Amino acid sequence: TAIMVATGRGAELGILIKGGEPLEMAGKIKRIVFDKTGTLTKGKPEITDIISFSDSIDDNEIFRLAASLEQKSEHALAEAVYNYAKIKKLTFVEVNDFKAIPGQGVSGFINNQKYFLGNNKLVKAISKEQTERITFLEKQGKTVMILAIEKQVLGAIAVADTVKPEAKEALLRLNKMGLEIYMITGDNYRTAGAIAKELGITNVLAEVLPEDKSSEIKKLQNNGFKVAMVGDGINDAPALAQADLGIAMASGTDIAMESGNIVLMKNDIRDVETAFKLSRAAINKIKQNLFFALFYNVVGIPIATRLFSQFGFVLQPELAGLAMALSSVSVVSNSLFLKSFKQNKKLLFSQVAPFIMIIFFSFLFWQFTNLSTAMAGMSEIYVPKVIRNEAGLYLSQGKAKIDYRKNEPKFFVGQELWNNKLALQEGRGLLNDNEMVLGFFEAQMMKREKLFKYPGDELKDFFGLNNVKIVGILKPTGTVLDYVHLVNMSTFEKMTGSADIQMAFSKGETKLFYITTPENIPVIFRQQIKNEDLNLVGYDNDLSYHSLMIGYKEAQMMKREKLIKGVGDVLVNLFGNKVLVTKILPLSGTLLDHLHFVDKGFVVKAE
Ligand code: ADP
Ligand code: MG
Repeated sequence: TAIMVATGRGAELGILIKGGEPLEMAGKIKRIVFDKTGTLTKGKPEITDIISFSDSIDDNEIFRLAASLEQKSEHALAEAVYNYAKIKKLTFVEVNDFKAIPGQGVSGFINNQKYFLGNNKLVKAISKEQTERITFLEKQGKTVMILAIEKQVLGAIAVADTVKPEAKEALLRLNKMGLEIYMITGDNYRTAGAIAKELGITNVLAEVLPEDKSSEIKKLQNNGFKVAMVGDGINDAPALAQADLGIAMASGTDIAMESGNIVLMKNDIRDVETAFKLSRAAINKIKQNLFFALFYNVVGIPIATRLFSQFGFVLQPELAGLAMALSSVSVVSNSLFLKSFKQNKKLLFSQVAPFIMIIFFSFLFWQFTNLSTAMAGMSEIYVPKVIRNEAGLYLSQGKAKIDYRKNEPKFFVGQELWNNKLALQEGRGLLNDNEMVLGFFEAQMMKREKLFKYPGDELKDFFGLNNVKIVGILKPTGTVLDYVHLVNMSTFEKMTGSADIQMAFSKGETKLFYITTPENIPVIFRQQIKNEDLNLVGYDNDLSYHSLMIGYKEAQMMKREKLIKGVGDVLVNLFGNKVLVTKILPLSGTLLDHLHFVDKGFVVKAE
């Protein structure tokens, strides 16, 4: 997505990026080579000097001959000469057997005389005086074309190509990005040097024949450096292809544009920097997104798979899915920040956004986990707190037991004296025989299972009762009370139960002790609780203690309240019993997590 957004943004900015590879490559480029003519210069040379070295031929005639020779050439220099001739309304002379010599110049026959026009590779026999005059022009950055016949230099034409006004600044900025800058040209060293100086370039590759441009690129690549080439001409195409990253100007030839991996549609050399910055931004995004994906997976998957359930982290599969979807949203939206990419603006927000998002999504994730746990309360993994205060005291004065349906513990309490001790959500609280008040979540659950609809409805065949009427539903309390089935004593006695629960009220809290026998070990703890755990355990050789196995949540709370440190602790008077903490049970996601598991011999004595 980051690549798509980046190429899209590039297109908006007039930078055509052909796929994802150029973006990635741009990040690795160390050296960047610029073609001189048409890329760094305007590519529209203008005639500045016409010189005759011969007494018999005047400047006009020199130029007429040169222009005639250049008629059929497609070189930028030829075009300059030709255009100038047209302006001056010169008449052309006939040229036969025209030849273009790449990187050197042209030749042709005029009146059966062979003429040459080109650089000093083409025209050799130049006198000292002539060389001096040519050198003088070249040092000004002008390109000098020499007109000659066999063994005689006739004259010279100098042209100047102005550097693009924005070029120097553009190169400087690229240099600041850590790129080493090169200029490559077929022009001679002096002309190239003068222009390079004007642009602040120190690495000049001059007098490079067209066919050698790509091998020069190859040389620069030799030390493992990744090289980019910026060019426009036919000559540049092989070099653009050879470079690790070819950047073509749209004003150039079709072949150059085809060879380039990136095309600068606006012909603005400053867009080279834009392209690089955009690439870097895109790569950054990709890295950030990878981090995101990793982060969510590292955090999310273990939670989703309940690896951390013993630490109290649980995430419903549905919510885990939603969280994962959100992580994709965050990746996509993070990528979309690239849309606001601007070359000279540090995208501060885009840079901090990932961190904000990480925090935000972590928070969301956390909330999901909490929500999950709460939601699970309506199914199987809600873990309530202890019953406190008046309600707890009221309850602890009754009797309690647990029975199971599909391995799920059901918590029954028998108590007579209602006295408005418990807050009702629906219905009434006063209990007659075969009437029942339900804790909030238990009622929710039973309604969902379509066991009843409203208070007043009756249940058949309920844990030993042929018939029981649900008369009220308690308000949610966030405690074990939310799971209670509250009945009067005589109804309680009729009900089945796998385990007796002894209740003890102390310091405003009700503690619940599951009287454990080999027959009623909860299925979920069969791995942890063994028959031998239900015998007295020795401690300090001679003393014997009850083994106390504590449900996960209860243990957590006891540790928080510094009542115990962990397994191995001894409590000499736990409601009249000597106990050794032998186990802390894993999180089961049921109300069992809030119970103490003790053997039959454990008897609660009121404090
Ligand atoms: P570039 O595109 O880098 O300027 P070229 O390889 O096309 O280089 O040309 C290199 C040199 O060869 C020019 O600077 C010029 O001196 C000479 N040259 C090439 N073509 C012509 C031509 N048509 N007329 C005159 N000189 C030419
Ligand atoms: Mg060029």
